[in-house]
Amino acid sequence: MRFTTRLLHESFAPDAATGCVTQPLYQSTAFYQPTAEEMEKVFAGRKPGFVYTRVGNPTIAGFERRLRALEGGVGAVAFASGMAAISHALLNVLSSGHEIVASSGLYGGTSSLLADFAQYGIRTRYAQGDRVEDFAAQINEHTRLIYVETIGNPKLDVVDIKALADLAHAHGVPLFVDNTVTTPYLCRPLELGADVVLHSTSKALNGNGNSIGGIVVAGGKFSWKADRYPKFRDYSFGPMSYIVRLRQRMVTDYGGCQSPFNAYLTGIGLDTLALRMDRICSTAQALAGYCESRGLEVDYPGLASSPFHELAARQFGGRFGAMLTLCFGTKERAFAFIDNLHYALNVSNIGDARTLVIHPASTIFCHLSAEERQQAGVTDDLVRVNVGLEDTEDLLEDFAQALDHLPSR
Ligand SMILES: *Cc1c(COP(=O)(O)O)cnc(C)c1O
Repeated sequence: MRFTTRLLHESFAPDAATGCVTQPLYQSTAFYQPTAEEMEKVFAGRKPGFVYTRVGNPTIAGFERRLRALEGGVGAVAFASGMAAISHALLNVLSSGHEIVASSGLYGGTSSLLADFAQYGIRTRYAQGDRVEDFAAQINEHTRLIYVETIGNPKLDVVDIKALADLAHAHGVPLFVDNTVTTPYLCRPLELGADVVLHSTSKALNGNGNSIGGIVVAGGKFSWKADRYPKFRDYSFGPMSYIVRLRQRMVTDYGGCQSPFNAYLTGIGLDTLALRMDRICSTAQALAGYCESRGLEVDYPGLASSPFHELAARQFGGRFGAMLTLCFGTKERAFAFIDNLHYALNVSNIGDARTLVIHPASTIFCHLSAEERQQAGVTDDLVRVNVGLEDTEDLLEDFAQALDHLPSR
C-alpha cells in the first residue's frame, strides 16, 4: 500500500456501531460504563474504553492512530497545540540538571520555550552549524536529548536526520524531530532512526487553517534507562514506555489535551495531504525558480543554489515543501513586495490552503534580540512565503507584477 491508500484505509475503518464512513465526532466530556465493576476495569486498564476526554476520546484516538500509522510509530498522543506537544514531549523526559542539544534555526515558539526551561534547571546548547560535528561539539555528560526540525523556519536549513540519530544513540540519548514543515508525506524521521516525532497539526496536516493542534509519535526503540532518565523509574513498559508516561503523566496531569472537534477537522484535512503537498511543492519550486530568474536572492531547498539541496533531495524524496524566503535588500522593499501581492495574504502562520507571506523580523521574531534574529536567519529585508493551493500560473503572475512595482534600491 502506498502513502494515500494507507492514509485512507490502513488506519481507518467505518464506525463499527453505525457504519459511519468518516471519523465520528464524539463531542463528549465523559463516557459511561453500565456497572461500577466495569468502570473499575476501565480505570485499571483491564477493559478497553474511555472515561474522560482529557485522558482519551474516540475521535482523538482515531486521529492519533492515523498519525501513528503515517509516521510508523508505536503510539501517539494528540495535544492542544504544537507548543503543547513540544512542551509535554520534552518534560516527559527531562529533569533539572539535564541539557538539550538543539539546531540553531528552531521555530521561534520553541526557542522561546527552551529559554524558559532554564529557570527550571534545563539548559539548551545550540549547534553552531548544521553539520553532525557541530552537534557533537555541544554534547556532554548532562545531555539528555537532541532536538531538531526537518526544515528550519524561516532559516530553511536541513540537518541529516540519519547521521544525527546515529550520533545521539552513540551518546545514549534520543533524537527528537519536529516534522511540521515536511509532514510524513515528505519525511518519516522514525524510519531514519529518530526516536520521537512532533507536529503542530495546525499547519499542513490540517491544511485549511481551521484548528490548532499538536501530536507526538514515538518510535519505541529507545531504551529509557532510569539512572539517566529518572522519570522512567516507574514506567518500564518496553517500547511503550515513552507513550504510556506521556499519556498517564503529561496529558493527564498537565492537561494539554486536544479538542475532539479539532481532531475531527484535522482528520478531514489529513485525507488530502498528499494531493495538497504535491501541488504546493511543485508551485513553490516554480515560484522559487521564477524569483531567482528575476535576480532576487531566493532561498528554497529545491534550488540547486541552496547549500542543503542534495541532502534535502535525498531525505525528502525530491520534494522540498511550501516555504521559501526572498531578500529584497531593504525593509522598505520587503514591505512593498508584501503590500503589492494580490493573492498572498499577510498572515503569521504556515500550512494554509491560501498562500501566506510575512516579514518575520518585525512580527514573529520582533521579541528576539538582534543576535537571536541573526541565529534564526532572520534579516530585515527577508520575506517568508508559504505557498498554498492557488493555480500556479496565477501566483506566478501575481509575483511578477509585485516585483515589477517594487521601489528601486
Ligand atoms: C507552528 C509551529 C509550531 C507550534 O505549533 P502551534 O500549533 O502554533 O502551537 C511548532 N513547530 C513548528 C515547526 C511550527 O511551524
